[in-house]
Amino acid sequence: MDKVRILPEIRLKQMVEKLKKNGFRITPQRYAVLKVLAQSENHPSAERIYEQLLTDYPTMSQATVYKTISLLKKTGEVLELEFSEMSNRYDGNKPYPHPHMICTKCGTISDPPMLDFEKLKNKMMEKTGFTISSHRLDFYGYCPDCQKK
Ligand SMILES: [Zn+2]
Ligand SMILES: [Zn+2]
Repeated sequence: MDKVRILPEIRLKQMVEKLKKNGFRITPQRYAVLKVLAQSENHPSAERIYEQLLTDYPTMSQATVYKTISLLKKTGEVLELEFSEMSNRYDGNKPYPHPHMICTKCGTISDPPMLDFEKLKNKMMEKTGFTISSHRLDFYGYCPDCQKK
């Protein structure tokens, strides 16, 4: 079954509950980081999250952002996309492996519709005898905005 994006407020609640269950404290600043991750569709980097929160939380530190992300990673509540040429990016709404479309010009990252991806995965397992526990599937190109330029 294809999984879809869930409502940010529900996703936020899930993250908070998971962290609390694992004994982590939810400070207002951590909560703010979770909120950004639960709702953003553009896969922000840690620096981007920090910049975004600085206006409302002038005492926010980059360390808090990194620390919160690391707690989420420990509990499996965020998907980290690692890159060699740019900062790591994060998807907190869909914390499981899924395909991404990456613009090589502006760095925008979006989730394509899942289409028949699960079917493809099942077919691959069936044909190869592999069990697939994770995957990394990136599509590179130009986003609609960059094509217009
Ligand atoms: Zn672009
Ligand atoms: Zn994503």
